[in-house]
Amino acid sequence: MKVPMVDMLAGYPPIKDEIETAVKNVFNKAHFILGEEVTKFEGEFAAHNGTKYAVGVANGTDALRMAILAAGIKPGDEVITSPFTFIATTETISQCGAIPVFADIDPASYNLDPKSAESKITGKTKAIIPVHLYGMPCDMDAIMAIAKKHGLKVIEDTAQAFTGKYKLGGTDWKYLGSIGNCGTYSFFPAKNLGAFGDGGAVTTSDDKILETLKQLRNHGSKVRYHHEMEGFNSRLDTVQAAVLSVRLRQVEKWTEMRNAVAAKYAAALDGVCVTPVVPANCRHSFNYYTIRFDTKSKRDNAQKYLTGQGIANQIYYPIALHLQEAYAHLGGKRGDLPVCEAVQDTVFSLPMFPELTDEQIKTVTDAVKASLTVSVGK
Ligand SMILES: *Cc1c(COP(=O)(O)O)cnc(C)c1O
Repeated sequence: MKVPMVDMLAGYPPIKDEIETAVKNVFNKAHFILGEEVTKFEGEFAAHNGTKYAVGVANGTDALRMAILAAGIKPGDEVITSPFTFIATTETISQCGAIPVFADIDPASYNLDPKSAESKITGKTKAIIPVHLYGMPCDMDAIMAIAKKHGLKVIEDTAQAFTGKYKLGGTDWKYLGSIGNCGTYSFFPAKNLGAFGDGGAVTTSDDKILETLKQLRNHGSKVRYHHEMEGFNSRLDTVQAAVLSVRLRQVEKWTEMRNAVAAKYAAALDGVCVTPVVPANCRHSFNYYTIRFDTKSKRDNAQKYLTGQGIANQIYYPIALHLQEAYAHLGGKRGDLPVCEAVQDTVFSLPMFPELTDEQIKTVTDAVKASLTVSVGK
Protein backbone atom coordinates (compact mmCIF):
# COMPACT_ATOMS: atom_id res chain seq x y z
CA MET A 1 0.00 0.00 0.00
CA LYS A 2 1.29 3.43 -0.96
CA VAL A 3 1.33 6.00 1.82
CA PRO A 4 1.82 9.70 1.00
CA MET A 5 3.77 12.15 3.18
CA VAL A 6 0.67 14.32 3.49
CA ASP A 7 -2.83 14.05 2.07
CA MET A 8 -3.85 17.60 1.27
CA LEU A 9 -7.42 16.67 0.37
CA ALA A 10 -8.27 14.34 3.28
CA GLY A 11 -9.54 17.12 5.54
CA TYR A 12 -11.37 18.98 2.80
CA PRO A 13 -14.82 17.32 2.33
CA PRO A 14 -16.24 18.25 5.77
CA ILE A 15 -15.47 21.96 5.29
CA LYS A 16 -15.75 22.20 1.50
CA ASP A 17 -19.02 24.13 1.46
CA GLU A 18 -17.88 26.53 4.14
CA ILE A 19 -14.61 27.28 2.35
CA GLU A 20 -16.23 27.68 -1.05
CA THR A 21 -18.80 30.10 0.38
CA ALA A 22 -16.07 32.13 2.08
CA VAL A 23 -14.01 32.30 -1.12
CA LYS A 24 -17.00 33.22 -3.31
CA ASN A 25 -17.78 35.97 -0.86
CA VAL A 26 -14.35 37.49 -1.49
CA PHE A 27 -14.82 37.18 -5.26
CA ASN A 28 -18.17 38.94 -5.10
CA LYS A 29 -16.90 41.83 -2.98
CA ALA A 30 -13.70 42.15 -5.04
CA HIS A 31 -11.77 43.73 -2.17
CA PHE A 32 -8.74 41.61 -2.90
CA ILE A 33 -5.86 43.46 -1.21
CA LEU A 34 -6.07 43.67 2.61
CA GLY A 35 -9.78 43.01 2.50
CA GLU A 36 -11.83 42.64 5.67
CA GLU A 37 -11.20 38.86 5.72
CA VAL A 38 -7.53 39.61 6.45
CA THR A 39 -8.35 41.80 9.46
CA LYS A 40 -10.87 39.21 10.66
CA PHE A 41 -8.38 36.35 10.38
CA GLU A 42 -5.66 38.40 12.11
CA GLY A 43 -7.98 38.97 15.07
CA GLU A 44 -8.89 35.29 15.26
CA PHE A 45 -5.28 34.15 14.94
CA ALA A 46 -4.04 36.53 17.67
CA ALA A 47 -6.90 35.44 19.95
CA HIS A 48 -6.03 31.79 19.35
CA ASN A 49 -2.38 32.37 20.26
CA GLY A 50 -3.03 34.64 23.22
CA THR A 51 -1.12 37.56 21.70
CA LYS A 52 -2.37 41.12 21.33
CA TYR A 53 -1.75 41.20 17.58
CA ALA A 54 -1.23 39.16 14.46
CA VAL A 55 -0.16 40.58 11.11
CA GLY A 56 -0.94 38.57 7.96
CA VAL A 57 1.90 38.45 5.44
CA ALA A 58 2.67 36.71 2.15
CA ASN A 59 4.53 33.66 3.53
CA GLY A 60 6.52 32.35 6.48
CA THR A 61 9.83 33.53 5.04
CA ASP A 62 8.65 37.12 4.82
CA ALA A 63 7.21 36.74 8.33
CA LEU A 64 10.75 36.03 9.57
CA ARG A 65 12.28 38.79 7.45
CA MET A 66 9.88 41.45 8.71
CA ALA A 67 9.97 40.23 12.32
CA ILE A 68 13.78 40.50 12.26
CA LEU A 69 13.60 44.07 10.93
CA ALA A 70 10.75 45.07 13.26
CA ALA A 71 12.69 43.72 16.24
CA GLY A 72 15.39 46.26 15.40
CA ILE A 73 18.09 43.95 14.03
CA LYS A 74 20.58 46.04 12.05
CA PRO A 75 23.33 45.25 9.52
CA GLY A 76 26.33 43.69 11.26
CA ASP A 77 24.32 42.38 14.21
CA GLU A 78 24.64 38.72 15.10
CA VAL A 79 21.63 36.45 15.46
CA ILE A 80 22.01 33.05 17.11
CA THR A 81 19.96 30.20 15.75
CA SER A 82 19.84 26.48 15.03
CA PRO A 83 21.75 24.98 12.10
CA PHE A 84 19.11 22.23 11.93
CA THR A 85 16.28 24.06 10.20
CA PHE A 86 15.02 25.16 6.80
CA ILE A 87 17.20 27.84 5.19
CA ALA A 88 14.37 30.43 5.45
CA THR A 89 15.35 30.89 9.11
CA THR A 90 18.83 32.12 8.18
CA GLU A 91 18.57 33.55 4.66
CA THR A 92 16.28 36.19 6.13
CA ILE A 93 18.87 37.04 8.81
CA SER A 94 21.53 37.54 6.11
CA GLN A 95 19.16 39.42 3.81
CA CYS A 96 18.61 41.94 6.63
CA GLY A 97 22.39 42.45 6.65
CA ALA A 98 22.83 40.58 9.93
CA ILE A 99 24.96 37.49 10.52
CA PRO A 100 23.55 34.07 11.39
CA VAL A 101 25.53 32.37 14.18
CA PHE A 102 24.92 28.66 14.56
CA ALA A 103 24.78 26.94 17.94
CA ASP A 104 24.49 23.19 18.47
CA ILE A 105 21.23 21.36 19.10
CA ASP A 106 19.90 19.24 21.93
CA PRO A 107 20.16 15.47 21.23
CA ALA A 108 16.64 14.73 22.51
CA SER A 109 14.57 17.59 21.08
CA TYR A 110 16.79 18.40 18.03
CA ASN A 111 16.17 22.04 18.94
CA LEU A 112 18.62 24.80 19.83
CA ASP A 113 20.69 23.83 22.89
CA PRO A 114 20.42 26.84 25.24
CA LYS A 115 23.91 26.26 26.72
CA SER A 116 25.50 26.16 23.29
CA ALA A 117 23.47 29.24 22.27
CA GLU A 118 24.70 31.18 25.31
CA SER A 119 28.30 30.23 24.55
CA LYS A 120 27.98 31.95 21.13
CA ILE A 121 26.99 35.35 22.53
CA THR A 122 29.37 38.22 21.67
CA GLY A 123 29.15 42.00 21.95
CA LYS A 124 27.39 42.00 18.56
CA THR A 125 24.62 39.52 19.42
CA LYS A 126 21.16 41.10 19.23
CA ALA A 127 18.71 38.23 19.01
CA ILE A 128 18.04 34.52 19.26
CA ILE A 129 15.76 32.70 16.83
CA PRO A 130 14.62 29.41 18.37
CA VAL A 131 13.00 27.11 15.79
CA HIS A 132 10.36 24.73 17.13
CA LEU A 133 11.45 21.99 14.75
CA TYR A 134 8.82 19.49 13.56
CA GLY A 135 6.47 21.11 16.13
CA MET A 136 8.54 20.20 19.19
CA PRO A 137 8.76 23.15 21.61
CA CYS A 138 12.20 24.60 22.32
CA ASP A 139 13.36 24.97 25.93
CA MET A 140 11.77 28.40 26.21
CA ASP A 141 12.38 28.88 29.95
CA ALA A 142 16.12 28.62 29.36
CA ILE A 143 16.07 30.67 26.15
CA MET A 144 14.04 33.49 27.69
CA ALA A 145 16.34 33.55 30.74
CA ILE A 146 19.42 33.90 28.49
CA ALA A 147 17.71 36.61 26.43
CA LYS A 148 16.80 38.54 29.56
CA LYS A 149 20.28 38.23 31.03
CA HIS A 150 21.96 39.48 27.83
CA GLY A 151 19.27 41.91 26.62
CA LEU A 152 18.47 39.96 23.43
CA LYS A 153 15.32 39.85 21.34
CA VAL A 154 13.64 36.48 20.79
CA ILE A 155 11.86 35.67 17.52
CA GLU A 156 10.25 32.23 17.57
CA ASP A 157 10.24 30.48 14.18
CA THR A 158 6.88 28.77 14.63
CA ALA A 159 6.45 27.75 10.97
CA GLN A 160 6.19 24.06 11.93
CA ALA A 161 4.71 24.51 15.37
CA PHE A 162 1.44 26.41 15.31
CA THR A 163 -0.81 24.85 18.03
CA GLY A 164 2.24 23.58 19.89
CA LYS A 165 2.31 24.70 23.52
CA TYR A 166 4.87 25.18 26.28
CA LYS A 167 4.30 25.45 30.02
CA LEU A 168 6.30 28.59 30.82
CA GLY A 169 7.86 28.53 34.28
CA GLY A 170 6.26 25.11 34.75
CA THR A 171 2.86 26.69 35.38
CA ASP A 172 1.58 28.77 32.50
CA TRP A 173 0.55 27.10 29.20
CA LYS A 174 1.51 29.36 26.29
CA TYR A 175 1.12 28.78 22.59
CA LEU A 176 4.44 28.61 20.77
CA GLY A 177 5.15 31.91 19.09
CA SER A 178 3.56 33.89 21.93
CA ILE A 179 6.53 33.71 24.32
CA GLY A 180 9.28 35.76 22.62
CA ASN A 181 9.00 39.28 21.20
CA CYS A 182 7.50 37.89 17.98
CA GLY A 183 6.32 34.58 16.62
CA THR A 184 6.48 33.84 12.90
CA TYR A 185 4.20 31.36 11.12
CA SER A 186 3.86 29.81 7.69
CA PHE A 187 0.57 28.82 6.09
CA PHE A 188 2.31 26.83 3.34
CA PRO A 189 -0.25 24.10 2.52
CA ALA A 190 1.63 21.28 4.31
CA LYS A 191 2.02 23.13 7.65
CA ASN A 192 -0.34 22.55 10.58
CA LEU A 193 -2.58 25.41 9.43
CA GLY A 194 -2.22 25.38 5.66
CA ALA A 195 -3.73 27.85 3.22
CA PHE A 196 -4.66 26.98 -0.37
CA GLY A 197 -1.48 28.69 -1.50
CA ASP A 198 1.16 30.74 0.32
CA GLY A 199 0.55 32.72 3.47
CA GLY A 200 2.19 33.67 6.74
CA ALA A 201 1.81 35.74 9.88
CA VAL A 202 3.73 37.40 12.67
CA THR A 203 2.30 37.61 16.18
CA THR A 204 3.39 40.09 18.82
CA SER A 205 2.04 41.89 21.85
CA ASP A 206 4.35 44.88 21.32
CA ASP A 207 2.60 47.97 19.89
CA LYS A 208 5.75 49.38 18.32
CA ILE A 209 6.62 46.10 16.58
CA LEU A 210 3.02 45.90 15.34
CA GLU A 211 3.20 49.35 13.74
CA THR A 212 6.51 48.55 12.02
CA LEU A 213 5.23 45.19 10.74
CA LYS A 214 2.14 46.80 9.23
CA GLN A 215 4.30 49.35 7.47
CA LEU A 216 6.89 46.85 6.29
CA ARG A 217 4.35 44.56 4.61
CA ASN A 218 2.92 47.48 2.66
CA HIS A 219 5.94 49.34 1.19
CA GLY A 220 6.73 51.17 4.41
CA SER A 221 3.57 53.23 4.35
CA LYS A 222 0.73 53.85 6.80
CA VAL A 223 -1.02 56.31 4.51
CA ARG A 224 -0.99 55.53 0.79
CA TYR A 225 2.00 57.08 -1.04
CA HIS A 226 3.50 58.39 2.21
CA HIS A 227 6.57 56.25 2.96
CA GLU A 228 8.36 56.66 6.28
CA MET A 229 10.65 53.79 5.32
CA GLU A 230 11.18 51.24 2.57
CA GLY A 231 9.21 48.06 2.94
CA PHE A 232 7.96 45.11 0.93
CA ASN A 233 4.91 43.96 -0.97
CA SER A 234 4.08 41.16 1.45
CA ARG A 235 0.45 41.08 2.46
CA LEU A 236 -1.62 38.03 3.28
CA ASP A 237 -3.91 37.45 0.30
CA THR A 238 -7.58 38.07 1.06
CA VAL A 239 -8.72 34.79 -0.54
CA GLN A 240 -6.20 32.89 1.60
CA ALA A 241 -7.36 34.72 4.73
CA ALA A 242 -10.94 33.60 4.02
CA VAL A 243 -9.77 29.97 3.69
CA LEU A 244 -7.61 30.25 6.82
CA SER A 245 -10.48 31.51 8.99
CA VAL A 246 -12.46 28.36 8.18
CA ARG A 247 -9.50 26.03 8.65
CA LEU A 248 -8.48 27.73 11.92
CA ARG A 249 -11.66 26.39 13.50
CA GLN A 250 -10.50 22.82 12.74
CA VAL A 251 -6.83 23.11 13.61
CA GLU A 252 -6.98 22.14 17.30
CA LYS A 253 -8.86 18.98 16.37
CA TRP A 254 -6.30 18.24 13.65
CA THR A 255 -3.43 18.63 16.13
CA GLU A 256 -5.16 16.20 18.49
CA MET A 257 -5.46 13.76 15.58
CA ARG A 258 -1.76 14.23 14.75
CA ASN A 259 -0.89 13.51 18.39
CA ALA A 260 -3.02 10.35 18.26
CA VAL A 261 -1.16 9.20 15.12
CA ALA A 262 2.14 9.96 16.87
CA ALA A 263 1.13 7.85 19.88
CA LYS A 264 0.36 4.90 17.57
CA TYR A 265 3.67 5.29 15.74
CA ALA A 266 5.52 5.44 19.08
CA ALA A 267 3.80 2.31 20.40
CA ALA A 268 4.55 0.31 17.25
CA LEU A 269 8.16 1.50 17.00
CA ASP A 270 9.01 1.09 20.67
CA GLY A 271 12.45 -0.55 20.86
CA VAL A 272 12.87 -0.37 17.06
CA CYS A 273 14.24 3.16 16.72
CA VAL A 274 14.24 6.43 18.65
CA THR A 275 10.82 8.11 18.57
CA PRO A 276 10.00 11.68 19.71
CA VAL A 277 9.83 12.08 23.48
CA VAL A 278 7.51 14.95 24.35
CA PRO A 279 8.29 16.43 27.78
CA ALA A 280 5.37 16.89 30.19
CA ASN A 281 5.63 20.69 29.88
CA CYS A 282 5.16 20.55 26.12
CA ARG A 283 2.47 19.90 23.53
CA HIS A 284 3.96 18.87 20.20
CA SER A 285 2.16 20.00 17.04
CA PHE A 286 3.54 17.06 15.01
CA ASN A 287 3.88 18.87 11.73
CA TYR A 288 6.45 16.13 11.07
CA TYR A 289 7.06 12.77 12.73
CA THR A 290 10.78 12.11 12.86
CA ILE A 291 12.53 8.93 13.95
CA ARG A 292 16.20 8.26 14.57
CA PHE A 293 18.46 5.23 14.15
CA ASP A 294 21.73 4.46 15.89
CA THR A 295 23.67 4.41 12.61
CA LYS A 296 23.55 6.23 9.30
CA SER A 297 23.55 2.96 7.37
CA LYS A 298 20.39 1.78 9.19
CA ARG A 299 18.74 5.12 8.43
CA ASP A 300 19.75 5.08 4.78
CA ASN A 301 18.62 1.47 4.41
CA ALA A 302 15.27 2.18 6.06
CA GLN A 303 14.75 5.16 3.79
CA LYS A 304 15.45 3.12 0.65
CA TYR A 305 13.28 0.28 1.88
CA LEU A 306 10.28 2.52 2.56
CA THR A 307 10.71 4.30 -0.76
CA GLY A 308 10.76 0.91 -2.50
CA GLN A 309 7.47 0.03 -0.81
CA GLY A 310 5.84 3.25 -2.01
CA ILE A 311 5.92 4.81 1.45
CA ALA A 312 6.83 8.49 1.28
CA ASN A 313 9.54 9.74 3.61
CA GLN A 314 11.89 12.68 3.85
CA ILE A 315 15.01 13.78 5.69
CA TYR A 316 14.40 17.10 7.40
CA TYR A 317 17.23 18.16 6.94
CA PRO A 318 20.00 16.18 5.23
CA ILE A 319 22.63 18.95 5.35
CA ALA A 320 22.76 21.25 8.36
CA LEU A 321 23.02 24.90 7.47
CA HIS A 322 26.58 25.42 8.76
CA LEU A 323 27.69 22.82 6.18
CA GLN A 324 25.77 24.28 3.23
CA GLU A 325 27.60 25.89 0.33
CA ALA A 326 25.51 29.03 0.86
CA TYR A 327 27.25 29.50 4.23
CA ALA A 328 30.78 28.51 3.22
CA HIS A 329 31.82 32.15 3.83
CA LEU A 330 30.99 31.69 7.52
CA GLY A 331 33.70 29.01 7.69
CA GLY A 332 31.57 26.18 9.14
CA LYS A 333 32.96 22.67 8.85
CA ARG A 334 32.27 19.10 9.99
CA GLY A 335 33.06 18.73 13.65
CA ASP A 336 31.90 22.23 14.64
CA LEU A 337 28.46 21.16 15.86
CA PRO A 338 28.75 17.44 16.60
CA VAL A 339 25.26 16.80 17.95
CA CYS A 340 23.63 18.39 14.92
CA GLU A 341 25.87 16.48 12.53
CA ALA A 342 25.11 13.15 14.21
CA VAL A 343 21.38 13.88 14.10
CA GLN A 344 21.30 14.93 10.43
CA ASP A 345 22.90 11.60 9.52
CA THR A 346 20.51 9.37 11.45
CA VAL A 347 16.99 10.86 11.28
CA PHE A 348 14.19 10.72 8.78
CA SER A 349 10.52 11.59 8.82
CA LEU A 350 7.53 9.36 8.21
CA PRO A 351 4.17 10.24 6.64
CA MET A 352 2.21 12.50 9.01
CA PHE A 353 -1.23 14.02 8.62
CA PRO A 354 -4.33 14.02 10.82
CA GLU A 355 -6.33 11.47 8.81
CA LEU A 356 -3.65 8.77 8.63
CA THR A 357 -5.49 5.47 9.13
CA ASP A 358 -4.54 2.57 11.41
CA GLU A 359 -3.90 0.48 8.31
CA GLN A 360 -1.54 3.11 6.88
CA ILE A 361 0.24 3.44 10.23
CA LYS A 362 0.73 -0.34 10.37
CA THR A 363 2.05 -0.40 6.79
CA VAL A 364 4.60 2.28 7.67
CA THR A 365 5.74 0.81 10.99
CA ASP A 366 5.92 -2.75 9.60
CA ALA A 367 8.15 -1.42 6.83
CA VAL A 368 10.43 0.37 9.30
CA LYS A 369 10.79 -2.88 11.27
CA ALA A 370 11.36 -4.96 8.14
CA SER A 371 14.05 -2.54 6.97
CA LEU A 372 16.23 -3.64 9.87
CA THR A 373 16.24 -7.24 8.63
CA VAL A 374 16.91 -6.70 4.92
CA SER A 375 19.67 -4.81 3.21
CA VAL A 376 18.31 -2.90 0.22
CA GLY A 377 21.58 -1.97 -1.48
CA LYS A 378 21.91 0.87 -3.93
C1 LIG B 1 8.16 26.37 6.13
C2 LIG B 1 9.19 27.03 6.96
C3 LIG B 1 9.53 28.39 6.82
C4 LIG B 1 9.10 29.23 5.66
O1 LIG B 1 7.77 29.30 5.39
P1 LIG B 1 7.23 29.64 3.90
O2 LIG B 1 5.79 29.96 4.13
O3 LIG B 1 7.43 28.42 3.07
O4 LIG B 1 7.99 30.81 3.39
C5 LIG B 1 10.40 28.95 7.74
N1 LIG B 1 10.92 28.22 8.73
C6 LIG B 1 10.65 26.90 8.87
C7 LIG B 1 11.27 26.16 10.00
C8 LIG B 1 9.79 26.27 7.99
O5 LIG B 1 9.53 24.96 8.13
